[in-house]
Amino acid sequence: MSLRRLVLSLSLGIFAMSEAAAETRYALAIHGGAGTIERKAMSPELEQAYREALGQALAAGEAVLKAKGSALDAVEAAVRVMEDSPLFNAGKGAVFNAEGKNELDAAIMDGKTLAAGAVAGVHRAKNPISLARAVMEKSPHVMLVGEGAEVFAKAQGVELVEPKYFRTERRWQQLIKTRKDKGEDTSTLSEDTSTEAKARASDKTTAVEWPDDHKFGTVGAVALDAQGNLAAATSTGGMTNKKWGRVGDSPIIGAGTYADNGGCAVSATGHGEFFIRAAVAHEICAQVKYAGKSLQAAAEAVVMDQLKAMGGEGGVIALDAKGLPALVFNSAGMYRGSVVSGGEPRIAIFRD
Ligand code: ASP
Repeated sequence: MSLRRLVLSLSLGIFAMSEAAAETRYALAIHGGAGTIERKAMSPELEQAYREALGQALAAGEAVLKAKGSALDAVEAAVRVMEDSPLFNAGKGAVFNAEGKNELDAAIMDGKTLAAGAVAGVHRAKNPISLARAVMEKSPHVMLVGEGAEVFAKAQGVELVEPKYFRTERRWQQLIKTRKDKGEDTSTLSEDTSTEAKARASDKTTAVEWPDDHKFGTVGAVALDAQGNLAAATSTGGMTNKKWGRVGDSPIIGAGTYADNGGCAVSATGHGEFFIRAAVAHEICAQVKYAGKSLQAAAEAVVMDQLKAMGGEGGVIALDAKGLPALVFNSAGMYRGSVVSGGEPRIAIFRD
């Protein structure tokens, strides 16, 4: 090839690359919960199942962003995939409260307008994240709880299911074990002896050894779309054996979920009481916005220093206004993944 042709094709290649980058600049990060998740406690099959589920959630969100959809649509799509998977503590597969019920919380936030929607203590919304979005877009409120949220869901045509839909044998056994370990009564908890329960018990996902992740397991997503807008979404069953009516950080705007185009987008997972008191998600964005810190430095200051000093365990996924991700956790592991335009999806579980 002549030198002229070489220079020409190189510059055409660079032009094509920069055009593609300019056209489809987006980023997405997700988490499926943090906790005592260690390699030695997880079988290769289970690790593979988690990796596949995280990959599906990333793919669902990325498909939206690739098609120039909004960051809001992307985070909702990614979270719905994890809510539908029994592997995560959100939607189907959520942990049980002390009464033996699945009680779900979720929140979503639009970084462009600072609009937000949240639900807490719901028992029948199949995808609580979509109900949170309906609260944001179709009500004048930010948060609806319990029965009122479900009446609203029905009026808005958000899909409702019977509470038993959320139940998995694994989470049920976690509740029994947690209560027994603490010397608490289990005789009032109704055993589910129905045919469906038996079928669930024989399901391969209930027959494996689980790592000790019973404390946490929330799911979340943050995205930057091609229009330069950020969004964050978080959905959870909360913490095993929590008191009836307990609300964690996930649906609290500024604690477990926050998005502001001028700062960053954050979704958290961990011991909610600490995350609420440290206003984790807002604190990280404030350090970026007002103190001029990099997102990584801000997330580390809050998660590794401030939270740890308080005794708070968990982590966050976050994106800055340019789409640079920070995935930071002070626990042994965090189910997590990210993808940026033009790159390959990255998925990880353990610290190493
Ligand atoms: N942060 C959630 C809560 O406290 C739990 C979790 O992340 O798994 O409700």
